[in-house]
Amino acid sequence: MDDYESLLERARSQIPEDAFKRSGERFQVPKVQLMVQGNRSFWQNFQEIINILNRPGKEVLKYVAGQLATAGNIEGSNAIFNGKFMSEQVEDVLNSYIESYVICPVCTRPDTSMAKEGNAYYLSCSACGARTSVRPV
Ligand SMILES: [Zn+2]
Repeated sequence: MDDYESLLERARSQIPEDAFKRSGERFQVPKVQLMVQGNRSFWQNFQEIINILNRPGKEVLKYVAGQLATAGNIEGSNAIFNGKFMSEQVEDVLNSYIESYVICPVCTRPDTSMAKEGNAYYLSCSACGARTSVRPV
């Protein structure tokens, strides 16, 4: 059986060259709106952003809070973190989430969904049909 790398190589070699160039269309994610109040940071457009990402809020929250090394929870449409953070910090973490768990590594489009099989997670791309294994959040 072929290993994953060679399958990926083959998938890439079957995509016409300009598929990569066309992927210049950027994924439109609004800027993170963060408001610090006391010792907590309120991510005010959290719900709006996870709707665009098409990912469960809990998963995004877990990732972002983990990267910020803090605790967080969801209240209404906000995500709230313990501690004072800047929107740029949250945005950096969000971008790395998007790169790892939303953007298809084969065609670089964001039209993906995440599926769990046993203990493994896969990113399935509806644009190019690629299926990529990803680390659990
Ligand atoms: Zn794809």
